Formats: sequence, C-alpha cells, structure tokens
Amino acid sequence: MMNEQYITLYSNCIPVKGQSKSAIYDLQRSRVIDVPNDLYDFTQFFDTHNISELYNLGGAENYEAVYEYIQFLIDEEVAFLVDKDQQKLFPKLDIIWDYASEITNMILEISEVTFPILNKIFNAVISLGCEHLYIRVEEEESIEVIQTVLHLLEASPIYSIVFEVRLGDNQDIKSFEALIDNNKRVDTLFLLTNEIKKTNSKKIMISKSEDFIFRKECFFRVNIPLFTEAQKHNVYFNRKLYIDNEGVIKNAPETKEAFGKITETSDEELYDIIKSPPFQKYWRINKDVITECKTCEYRYMCIDNRLPVLRENGAYSFETKCKIKVAHTIEG
Ligand code: SF4
Repeated sequence: MMNEQYITLYSNCIPVKGQSKSAIYDLQRSRVIDVPNDLYDFTQFFDTHNISELYNLGGAENYEAVYEYIQFLIDEEVAFLVDKDQQKLFPKLDIIWDYASEITNMILEISEVTFPILNKIFNAVISLGCEHLYIRVEEEESIEVIQTVLHLLEASPIYSIVFEVRLGDNQDIKSFEALIDNNKRVDTLFLLTNEIKKTNSKKIMISKSEDFIFRKECFFRVNIPLFTEAQKHNVYFNRKLYIDNEGVIKNAPETKEAFGKITETSDEELYDIIKSPPFQKYWRINKDVITECKTCEYRYMCIDNRLPVLRENGAYSFETKCKIKVAHTIEG
C-alpha cells in the first residue's frame, strides 16, 4: 500500500449511515456489510485525502484503527487503491431512477371473481408494462390455478411470478415442485402450512402463516434498481397495482382507497386510474421522510409494507413499530 495512493470504493459499493451503525450496500453482489459509523465517516474523506493524509487525520493514537479499516475494505472487496490521476476514471454510480412502464408489479388475489377474467387482467397489466406478479391463491385447487396462470402467461413478457399458496390437506408438495421447478418465470412459491414439511426445491419456501410476514426475503433486497428507486420513492407502494378477491382495484393491500372493480373497468379506465394523483398518493413517500426509517441504515433496501401516516407536524410515521430490523441478522 503506497501512502500517496487513494482508497476508492467500487461504484456499486455504497455506504449508508444509520443512527447507531452503518451499512455498505454491495449492489452488484446483493449483499450488505454492517459497519460502525466511524468507518462510514472515514469513507467520506476518501475522495480528498490520500492514505498518508488519512493517517494524519486519524492521529497517531488511531493509526491501528485506520490501518484496519483500509485493510477491511480491501479484504471485503468493496474498495481498491488508485493513483491520484486515476481517480477520475472511477465515477460514482448514477442513482437517477426511472422505469418505462406505468406499473412494475401487481398483487392479485385469485377468487371466484378474478379467476374467470384472468386473461383480461393479465392483458391489461401487460399493456401497462407490468413485469412482476405476486399471486395469492387461497383456494384448495391451487395446483390447477397455478397451471392456468402459467399457461396464460406462457408467451407473455412477464419476467417473474411469486405465488403465495395455502397448502391444502390433501395436497402433496411434489406436485408443486413438478410444476414450478423448471419454469424460469416462477421466482418463488411461498407455501403456507402449519405442518412440518420438507422440499428439495430451491424455489419453494415453506412457512407457517404467522411467521410468514417476518421472513427476511420478503423485505430486504440489495440491488441497483431498488437502491436507486428508493432514493425518491416508496419502493413498496410505487408503481404497484393490487386487485383483491372481490376484484376491487387498489394501490396495495394496505391502502384504503378503492378505485372501482376490475370487472367493470376497461383498459383505458384502468390507465386513467393509475395515472391519477389519488392512486399514487404513497408512491413518493420514501423512507427519508418517515420518522422511524430516515436514520435506519437499511432504508434503501427495505420493502416494508406499512402505510405511512401524515402527522400534523408534516412528518410521516407508522401506527406500529418496525419488527423487520430486529427480526433479521444481516450477514456480512
Ligand atoms: S421499516 Fe424498519 S428496517 Fe425498514 S427502513 Fe424502516 S426502520 Fe429500517
């Protein structure tokens, strides 16, 4: 390590400061490294101070700590050393987000109302540019429902499908495995049951109903699209469409505002609903303006689904406390 060199973070490795600790998001490898706030503060001098100047900044009493921080970042492959004239060759990540579709994801509840018009619903959301579906199946005939959904979407641009299914008494997990394991469009199948079941499928996650909402994979995602979207948007509510089991159109299951029934809504009317300010009420309430979240180091990777409430002082907060942060140990 030459003392005139500069330490540089990879552009996809971004430090985020929290109240009591910080995190480095490795957006390319989809991992997050918990670090002390001192280390976050230290990274803020990297652009302007070479190694020798960083040691001077820390003072003689912190020589060991500075050495360990630099070594840690290099060992973790989040930083590297460059000469001064090479610094400009490594620009920061552009964090502007946009997406060329009106809706990016939909939650659909399958029922007697929605199942008969699945084709109409899928065609409507595909024309809005939706690529990700979350499909909740309460019925006993979930295998048949999944088969129908996959058949209807066979030649569609839908990129990923997550199913949430309640395992019926007479259903065998192997039937689900056979159906989804080789289907590239199916991302995950959450199988809710209170019995102890096992599966060899990497796509099936078995969970008790009451544990389900605390699963880490439901709430934390570390990647460039989510990180950039989270800078100015609430990544849970933004560009989401929800159709409940009665066909009622909403932004999300958690929102109260209803916008008519899908059975009585044309594609053009659905477009107008989605473009309307009342439908987009929560889209731009990102974690930076929510009291509980604005000092949380996970605020740009968290897909928390609680509804922000506007208080008299102009700040947003929640009716309930965050259970996600304490429920998960972030792996380094
Ligand atoms: S919901 Fe919890 S984990 Fe997520 S950003 Fe807010 S405080 Fe952090």
